[in-house]
Amino acid sequence: MTNEKPIFIVDAMLGKLAKKLRLLGYDSLYSSSMDDDEIIKLARNEKRILITKDVPLLQKAKKHQIETIQITKEDEIEQFLQINEKATLGEFTVSGDNSRCSVCNGELQYTEKNDVSEKVPRGVLENMNDFWICKDCKKIYWEGTHIKNLKKFTAKLNEKL
Ligand SMILES: [Zn+2]
Repeated sequence: MTNEKPIFIVDAMLGKLAKKLRLLGYDSLYSSSMDDDEIIKLARNEKRILITKDVPLLQKAKKHQIETIQITKEDEIEQFLQINEKATLGEFTVSGDNSRCSVCNGELQYTEKNDVSEKVPRGVLENMNDFWICKDCKKIYWEGTHIKNLKKFTAKLNEKL
């Protein structure tokens, strides 16, 4: 096992999980329209760990020597613990500086308040100082409600590690 962060490919049934992984900084491919063969091909070519609930897909992936993590739990905290058992994610932190875009998996870049002043709601601009922009789809991020919720989530998770 290396110190490098594991990278993932997540099956179509686990979209919420994929978004959380991205916001926590893990490179996670996900698309609701990818079929099994595409998933297998990408996992193999890019050496991604497959996270899946789908047993036939899991078996197929194993035949291709792809590293897999089977999700059997419904609860999201439990799901993260299942991932952590095999991929050792370590302590979970939420920070714009290491998050990836929840929409497209792109990298985020810290950006000046001035550069986003026309693109975010006034109230947000008045209350926030730190902004990040997705290098790929240009979505703008700040420490809004979903980040606060994510911090609560990771706090709970870290207690269980
Ligand atoms: Zn993006």
